[in-house]
Amino acid sequence: MLDLLITNARLPRSTSPTSLAIEAGRIVPLPAGREALDARERIDAAGKLLTPALVEPHIHLDAVLTVGQPRHNLSGSLFEGIAIWGERVKDLDADDVRRRVAQVLRWQVANGVLFVRSHVDVCDPRLTALRALLDVKREFADRITLQLVAFPQQGIQSFPNGEALMRQAVELGADVVGAIPHFELTREYGEQSVKFAVGLAQEFNRQVDIHCDETDDEHSRFLEVLAAETIRLNMQGRVTASHTTAMHSYNNAYAGRLIVNVRRAGLHMVTNPLDNAVLQGRFDHYPIRRGHTRIKELLAAGVNVCLGHDSVMDPWYPLGKADPLQAAFVLAHYGQMSGYEEIRTLIDMITVNGAKTLGLTDYGLEPGCRADLVLFDAPSEGDAVRLIAPRRLVIRAGTVVARTEPARQVVTWQGKEEPVDYMPARSG
Ligand SMILES: [Zn+2]
Repeated sequence: MLDLLITNARLPRSTSPTSLAIEAGRIVPLPAGREALDARERIDAAGKLLTPALVEPHIHLDAVLTVGQPRHNLSGSLFEGIAIWGERVKDLDADDVRRRVAQVLRWQVANGVLFVRSHVDVCDPRLTALRALLDVKREFADRITLQLVAFPQQGIQSFPNGEALMRQAVELGADVVGAIPHFELTREYGEQSVKFAVGLAQEFNRQVDIHCDETDDEHSRFLEVLAAETIRLNMQGRVTASHTTAMHSYNNAYAGRLIVNVRRAGLHMVTNPLDNAVLQGRFDHYPIRRGHTRIKELLAAGVNVCLGHDSVMDPWYPLGKADPLQAAFVLAHYGQMSGYEEIRTLIDMITVNGAKTLGLTDYGLEPGCRADLVLFDAPSEGDAVRLIAPRRLVIRAGTVVARTEPARQVVTWQGKEEPVDYMPARSG
């Protein structure tokens, strides 16, 4: 007998409903014959979209829910945000970090996110945030899988004992090595920081995820260094570049050559439309650049691009509820990804593409994969994005870990109460 049988589910890029069988927490081939379909638990998906669990490849959990502390960002700019964080970070302690992160992890699970890569600021001689996050990672390991990036918010070469702190962070248990080359004091420091980060990751057998060229400065060109270093040290497939917003402003000849090398290096790319929509272009007068990486060109070249949320209610971005689908909705507009196939790609970018970036195994809808699933309250990818549809069910290893009862909306119309579900009425 099966543990769980999900019937009448619509899988991504398919039009006909299908069933999914689950045994011992894993997806198994659908048994032939009706009597074989006995299951301890059955879920009728009612023709709604069923995907693998959502993946959050880029968030800063140590800063979440600090908006307004100690003051609000009045301009909304990156630099005012950094100044405010500099004040807030002084009274960071383990309990403060733990409380805020535990709350957002629950939000993520409710949204269907079961895999998270979080950057953690390690420009702190005590490594308070990292130690707290390592505890949180262990404490909630049965609910959500966390990867932690040693992220030097103020630089490696430009911060006292930067290299030693990075090394200590990796020895403590950081899964991924970060860097922020465009923020270093000089171009040379920036290059050095990229080389240091990739070298450190190779030495400790870790992955790399670098805040790379998150600026509108077309002279910020550290992505080429990251690609070259990845090729030189044979780290293809284990290295990620986040943001790369300067690519928006590169000349087309340079960008074209760069994308070829990004592909050659097997880099994963993370785009963060929420934060970068509000933070980029701040030095422009009209026309104001979008300051966004070249997603369509990267995808067309065969590069793996995924979608991050980045901030949740912090000094840089006061909005957000840790829902990747909100970020996908914004990217549909901001990245002009409204084409028929492009909307389907948006769902890939918050699921399978993120899984590739994190290097997840056993992820997906094929037999053998762990049954980590999300059932949307929408029949298709397009409707899921359009409605930012609630997640009816979130399933981890075959067990329901979150559910949503969608609101029932009613209008009084010509003297009668009529339900509204925002779906076009079928003709006939
Ligand atoms: Zn970031």
